[in-house]
Amino acid sequence: MIRKQYPFFYKRYAYDLSKNVLHDLKNEKDECKINEMDEEDIEMYSSLNEGSLMLDHPVHTKCPHCMGEE
Ligand SMILES: [Zn+2]
Repeated sequence: MIRKQYPFFYKRYAYDLSKNVLHDLKNEKDECKINEMDEEDIEMYSSLNEGSLMLDHPVHTKCPHCMGEE
């Protein structure tokens, strides 16, 4: 679910800094536990083409629940 408020601001991808896991909020599942993430550990990206994501986090995991096989 896309959220409008801080720290999401309508962006689609949520990066969990504490676990180094990337979530797709458009495809969010209960198992993602987005609501349990500490807002200070969340970094948002509007698209995966944003080069900044790979530069900031060259080693990261895609959440198997919302970013599994496409
Ligand atoms: Zn997820």
